[in-house]
Amino acid sequence: MNNKTNHKPALPTRVAQALHYVEEATGAVVPSIQPAATYARDENYDIRQPYWYRRDGSQATTHAERVIAELEGAAESLLFSSGMSAATAVLEQLPAGAHIVVPEVMYHGVLGQVQNFASKQRIRVDYYTAGNLDELAGAVRQGETQLVWVETPNNPNWEVTDIAAASEIAHGAGANLIADCTATPPNMTRALELGADISFHSATKFLNGHSDVTAGVLSVCESGPWWDEIAMVRKLQGTVLQSFDAWLLIRGMRTLFLRVEKASANAMALAQHFDGHRLIETVLYPGLASHPGHEVADRQTGGQFGGMLSIIVSGSEQTAIDVCRYCQIFYPATSLGGVESLIEHRKTVSGDGFPVHPRLLRLSIGIEEIGDLIADLEQALERASDA
Ligand code: PLP
Repeated sequence: MNNKTNHKPALPTRVAQALHYVEEATGAVVPSIQPAATYARDENYDIRQPYWYRRDGSQATTHAERVIAELEGAAESLLFSSGMSAATAVLEQLPAGAHIVVPEVMYHGVLGQVQNFASKQRIRVDYYTAGNLDELAGAVRQGETQLVWVETPNNPNWEVTDIAAASEIAHGAGANLIADCTATPPNMTRALELGADISFHSATKFLNGHSDVTAGVLSVCESGPWWDEIAMVRKLQGTVLQSFDAWLLIRGMRTLFLRVEKASANAMALAQHFDGHRLIETVLYPGLASHPGHEVADRQTGGQFGGMLSIIVSGSEQTAIDVCRYCQIFYPATSLGGVESLIEHRKTVSGDGFPVHPRLLRLSIGIEEIGDLIADLEQALERASDA
């Protein structure tokens, strides 16, 4: 007798159970770790599974991709060994000389790679101020632009771009839209539903959530020849996410909803506490009603505003660096989206030539007790301002 009901569990339930994973052979509720780089064919010399060599993927990678596709409402997702290798695959599949439009300021690694491709005349690039749709509309070229790049909220100032409006502009010009929503993972921002053609995340960050994997993921509602080309770039460059990392990612994603809820609540409390603080010039956080992107963010990220914020401290550049040095609970480290809170002097990390305020500190808020985080930043600010 089939005793299954037709009830479809909610998304948080499906993700917590990694799509109700049960291993066929053993009944285990957690996947086995399968490290094989190659797979034996059967007695007819046919492949037994879709896998025959690791560069094509593995069971764990496919399963992690299914969980992400579920989160995104995507037809397909592809996991890469880092966010950068995913972003690079998108640039690699563009035809020679393609025109693309990107924000003037965004995650410095992606911006650097775009500039690298442009300097070799592989693509042509125009820029717009992140969040400014008028500038974006002015930068796209009808029938010529092939790709519009949006990062929202945007590193390191956290400008918010309206994905639905950006998608209208991109599609109106005949371009595809890629949305990098790394700072607000797909349980917050449903980029594909909002009109993006590709949703992109550094899964190193909130999706994995434990600072122990680098991974990147692209997701689409509709595949096509360009999607096959991206998959081919991954295969030929060998940038598929490796099995153990995919296994860790599946484990990390089970707690995504809880982690993001706690990090968002912590970030909001911290932003409100330090907004107007005598040792801080500005708090940049889309959750604050005073943030220019607050209304769009409220609509776009489901009433939570994520765990990322920046502060511009009063004093000198050295004061800002000293705040990082004096923190005892925040780790003075780059990256974001882990359960532990991080603080970084962004100018030091993004390097010369990248436009960032010299007193800007980027904070990735974790799941710790909020009182500890506030007290830590208070004492570091006091100490740095006395120095
Ligand atoms: N996109 C954003 C918004 C990021 O913050 C990062 C990394 O910090 C990346 C892409 C690149 O991802 P990865 O470090 O996994 O290569």
